[in-house]
Amino acid sequence: MTSARMHTPNSSRFSLRHYIDKSMTRLLPRHCLFCLEKIHKSHEQNEKSEVCHYCSEQLIHNSRACQRCALPLKGSESHICGNCLSHKYYFEQVYSPFIYTNEIRYLIRQLKYHNKIHYAQTLAGLFIQQSKNLEDFRLPQQLIPMPMHTHRLRQRGYNQALELTRSLSRHFQIPMDYQSLIRYRSTGLQAGLNARERQKNVRNAFKITTTGRNSSLSKVQHIALVDDVMTTGSTLNEAARILKQAGIQRVDGWIMARA
Ligand SMILES: [Zn+2]
Ligand SMILES: [Zn+2]
Repeated sequence: MTSARMHTPNSSRFSLRHYIDKSMTRLLPRHCLFCLEKIHKSHEQNEKSEVCHYCSEQLIHNSRACQRCALPLKGSESHICGNCLSHKYYFEQVYSPFIYTNEIRYLIRQLKYHNKIHYAQTLAGLFIQQSKNLEDFRLPQQLIPMPMHTHRLRQRGYNQALELTRSLSRHFQIPMDYQSLIRYRSTGLQAGLNARERQKNVRNAFKITTTGRNSSLSKVQHIALVDDVMTTGSTLNEAARILKQAGIQRVDGWIMARA
């Protein structure tokens, strides 16, 4: 971020701090978590947003991106990136309004690793704000959070993708289904693996539950998978493959930030 107004607040793992934060935001006028200025309510601002209009405009937007996988494009590439031209992807379109850097990375890391669950609303709010600028933003019939393996879920206590989906589902009035698609094979961390290794690592990591097959999934054709970050797209692609196998015609990705 270029602005001198902005700073990165210290992280805190105290749950008491989290409780105080939550209570205070209800009682006091809200201040932007980056520039500390008071947040003025405006029609563009999500009611619970913790980022002021000025700072949300300063975030690094993924404005020139591949129309398929949302990879930020280089000068010479037009519309579709080289990966999408040479690979078969099961997802149709990824929408990812921010580049995974600076402030967005800070928000996502706080949400994932520092119990700042309410940042899911902030991130979803920023996503919603940006989606208004899109001309061809086709809404899906259902949202599915990227599933987390039960081992990881027990460690973390929550799935950040589910928390993001909750806010998006409420805003767009699109039902969410967090039970039909599950992650039944623990894949460990994808970080540090290259694209090919990541692909191999997530192979057969997901499955559709019997209830999913018989209930909500049989009634929809178009789904968006919601996640916080996308790096190579292997996880999204594998989840999309399983959903397509189950008869879903179109799978999109709604991702907060593109790495
Ligand atoms: Zn601000
Ligand atoms: Zn692409």
